[in-house]
Amino acid sequence: MIVNIERKITRPIRVGNVAIGNLAGISVQTMTNTNTEDVDATLTQIQDAVAAKADIVRVSCNTQKSTEALKEIVKSAGVPIIADIHFNHKRAIEAIENGTHCIRINPSNITEHGLIEIVRCAVANSAPIRLGLNSGSIERGILDRYKEPCADALVDSALLNIQKLENMNFSNFKISVKSSNVKTTIEAYRKLSVRSDYPLHVGVTEAGTILSGTIKSSIGIGALLADGIGDTIRVSLSTKDLREEVRVGRQILKSLGLLRNSIDIVSCPTCARTLIDVISIARDLEGATENTEKKLTVSVLGCVVNGIGEALNSDIGIFGFEKGVAKIYTNGKEVATIKEQEIVKFVTKKIAGL
Ligand code: SF4
Repeated sequence: MIVNIERKITRPIRVGNVAIGNLAGISVQTMTNTNTEDVDATLTQIQDAVAAKADIVRVSCNTQKSTEALKEIVKSAGVPIIADIHFNHKRAIEAIENGTHCIRINPSNITEHGLIEIVRCAVANSAPIRLGLNSGSIERGILDRYKEPCADALVDSALLNIQKLENMNFSNFKISVKSSNVKTTIEAYRKLSVRSDYPLHVGVTEAGTILSGTIKSSIGIGALLADGIGDTIRVSLSTKDLREEVRVGRQILKSLGLLRNSIDIVSCPTCARTLIDVISIARDLEGATENTEKKLTVSVLGCVVNGIGEALNSDIGIFGFEKGVAKIYTNGKEVATIKEQEIVKFVTKKIAGL
């Protein structure tokens, strides 16, 4: 059963061929952690991210050589590239001129003059900008007012910087207001979403290692997406394998029914009543349907306790009926009674026919 989330309508922008905002599909981003000057190493990570289905990849550009490397990276990446820039506005201009599809800047570490130059270049090249605000770098005046980097301070910082760009007649941007504190992140995005209709890039910054970062991101990003807030997301994990970030991001969207084409596998935790090998069947079905472009729910339960109810609410329902034997339902109707060894093949075929 899919419960639809009413999403907030935001302004549309484009990052390369990816539409963001105005109810476009929620894109999943990640970021390389190579030295961007090393084109081969960076492209290898980007290809890993693409294989894991990242929609957009960000690379850090802190030297002129790294913005020079963008020429080759953008040409070969096969996915839109965002250049992440801090401190030196010249890097942003080089990145745009070398073909990056978007730049991310944190305006609190760019001079007023630098911001004007960046916007001029972005307009000339039709390049969008992400205003990437962070609780660790809020403007001094705002911080003095609130004494701490709270949600209201982040929102004030966002509104101040939105005003600066609007004063330059620039609206081709999206915003993020990330904090490493999950509650602050949720509150800041909720408040900003009421006061602005620019597209929102949602994430919990510096979320931590794979386990804690996945949990923090799932709570923070998940709560906002469930509210209909968020146009593009990045799960930020301390990991060498950025595919982890993409997988978690996609799984968050899947869990909320926000991936346009995906199979959502519902499975029980198993217990003494379990009659079929739920764990292996759910895992094998997930693997077999990873690239299936259909929006369906498949439930795998160990017995009739919740099995029939879930089966009636799923596109395909599987539940243990007697030891080693399962009933299969499609669209709420019983269609087969089969041995557990045959389930994955049978159901994969059914999915193909739906
Ligand atoms: S559905 Fe049945 S087997 Fe699965 S956890 Fe519940 S009672 Fe146990």
